[in-house]
Amino acid sequence: MSQRTLTIVKPDAIAKGVAGQIIARFEQAGFRILAAKLIHMTHEQAADFYAVHKSRPFFRSLCAFMTQGPCLAMVLEADDAIARLRELMGATDPAKAAPGTIRKDFASSIEANAVHGSDSAESAAFEIPYFFNGLEILPR
Ligand code: GDP
Repeated sequence: MSQRTLTIVKPDAIAKGVAGQIIARFEQAGFRILAAKLIHMTHEQAADFYAVHKSRPFFRSLCAFMTQGPCLAMVLEADDAIARLRELMGATDPAKAAPGTIRKDFASSIEANAVHGSDSAESAAFEIPYFFNGLEILPR
């Protein structure tokens, strides 16, 4: 079943100049790009986006990292997009990520790990409209 997910090429990957290579991985894996936006988030915007992690010890550091430079938010569509993107991304910690995954190839650390991907349908339903309104997303 066709499904949408939210991905973010994180500030570390933009700063390294590997955004194009990461987008190519999405395209090669068959994802359709329905929306894309470069955004340099404020602390408040990052904190609201990651509100589910508010009580985690790394929350402040994560918000500082996500606001250190611009990132590229995108809506991707594919069959089973949420699970397939998570597989393509690899484990949160690049040291544990499988060979050939985006995080294995481009992440620097467990925090500066190159990409975000929605982890469930509920997360995608919150995250997609967090960055994009209906007019900014291509129709199917
Ligand atoms: P994800 O779904 O694989 O992105 O991982 P999580 O939802 O668990 O965490 C969200 C983000 O917080 C990760 O992508 C990392 O950028 C960051 N993060 C996760 N775990 C840690 C950690 O142990 N330390 C630090 N500094 N950052 C972390």
